[in-house]
Amino acid sequence: MIIELFKLRPDGEWFDGEESPEILGVGEDPAIKSSNPIRYHLFAQRASGQLVLNGEVRADMTLQCGRCAEFFSTSVAENSFLRAYEISDATEVVDVTPDIREEILLQVPHFPVCSPECKGLCPQCGANLNLAPCKCQPPDDYRWSALDDVKLN
Ligand SMILES: [Zn+2]
Ligand SMILES: [Zn+2]
Repeated sequence: MIIELFKLRPDGEWFDGEESPEILGVGEDPAIKSSNPIRYHLFAQRASGQLVLNGEVRADMTLQCGRCAEFFSTSVAENSFLRAYEISDATEVVDVTPDIREEILLQVPHFPVCSPECKGLCPQCGANLNLAPCKCQPPDDYRWSALDDVKLN
């Protein structure tokens, strides 16, 4: 998103548009699938030697759940995007793209979870416990029942 200052209305104006998801640079991250555009809705206004932007940035993406490893769709958004750029009479354009990128990446959770109720994977057999309970015993019970067997023999 590039703002051409010579076109900007003196009382400011709204910018609505999209950026390519490729600006995020998350193609190497197997836990993030980002193929939808990043949307912005930002008000830009000159204010005492600065260009001030505020508004909202949002991106729909698919993240891998940190508990069950399934991918789920979610929306990552910052509703109070606020940036100020120093400008002079010589400034012709301001590129906001790096800050849109940074803001979206900051909103991506470090430990995404598909749902607060996600049961995750069984640590023993790896079954997804959201789909069905597995037959594994909790580790402690398993140890004690083994001891019982020894006594019986
Ligand atoms: Zn999950
Ligand atoms: Zn299991």
